[in-house]
Amino acid sequence: MRYLSEYRDPEVARSLVHQIRDTATRRWVMMEVCGGQTHTIVKQGLGELLGDAVEMIHGPGCPVCVTPLEQIDKALALAARPDVIFASFGDMLRVPGSDCDLQQVRARGGAVRVVYSPLDALALAQANPDKEVVFFAVGFETTAPANAMAVWRARELGVPNFSVLVSHVTVPPAMRAILDAPDNRVQAFLAAGHVCTVMGWTEYEPIAAEYRVPIVVTGFEPIDILEGIHFAVRQLEDGRHEVENQYVRAVTRAGTVPARSLVEQVFRLADRKWRGIGEIPGSGLVLRDEFAAFDAEAKFGLGDVTVEEPAECRAGDVLRGRLKPHQCPAFGSRCTPEHPLGAPMVSSEGACAAYYNYGRFREMEVVGRGS
Ligand code: SF4
Repeated sequence: MRYLSEYRDPEVARSLVHQIRDTATRRWVMMEVCGGQTHTIVKQGLGELLGDAVEMIHGPGCPVCVTPLEQIDKALALAARPDVIFASFGDMLRVPGSDCDLQQVRARGGAVRVVYSPLDALALAQANPDKEVVFFAVGFETTAPANAMAVWRARELGVPNFSVLVSHVTVPPAMRAILDAPDNRVQAFLAAGHVCTVMGWTEYEPIAAEYRVPIVVTGFEPIDILEGIHFAVRQLEDGRHEVENQYVRAVTRAGTVPARSLVEQVFRLADRKWRGIGEIPGSGLVLRDEFAAFDAEAKFGLGDVTVEEPAECRAGDVLRGRLKPHQCPAFGSRCTPEHPLGAPMVSSEGACAAYYNYGRFREMEVVGRGS
């Protein structure tokens, strides 16, 4: 299949692994930002193939995982209201809130609907004028354009019973927060190709220059990731710190300008709390004042809520790359995909789910050999 099978070619992968190992004169530490990349790395065993050349640590780029507990609790409160149809992408349904999840609210009679697009939620509002339809607008810069479009269309069409519960986050402030941490180990980043398809990479240039860290815009297939790692290792060995683009088949420096423009017209930057990590200044998107009528938090008077994260879940350490998922004491015992304690075990992009589904037997073997 064009644009797929050639990026999974074992011969090309083998050659890239050799090139990386031949280029590296020491072990470099790099972080892939995106949860989709984490899944490819763990599923394909790329970390093991790289041996002593590169240590990959997994970043906070799983949108489901970083949606703060407060926003999940607000979603649960809205979904339980008899006057509300709560629409969401399917992977948010099993994310644990303080007491339950959206799936449990649905089992108790809440009108929770899975949709594939925010425009489907808007259509739901048009078809149910006697109900309030709220869409759970989560994710990074990748989902923001479609959510912005839904709000824009709702205003254009005059749909008063549609609103969005916004929990958007953006990547560059999170990269800065990781690099600013006193215990940071990241020496290079693989930036998420789909985020850059929308946003381009100009936002990364000052980060690369200021922190002297290579950033390689990278795709999601095994060859993409190995090539991105090779680019980053070459920069590290040369003492360079630039933004390079591996994902040339999808990304340009300017990104998708109409999508960026729509996002900028509908949303503005604001401080945002990340689940397990805490507040990162300027890392969130909220609706601009002219779209306030579509803000579910204002419409339903949800206000400020502060809740404590469950102490047992070490998601914050996992999302910052301080802890590998299998090093969490609850991993695979009290926390499994069937009975998750935290979002990284639920999401299709979560690092804990990746290790559980693809990596746990390898890790168990390693633990067994050493003990
Ligand atoms: S294994 Fe479970 S409890 Fe541990 S960090 Fe991951 S999601 Fe949280």
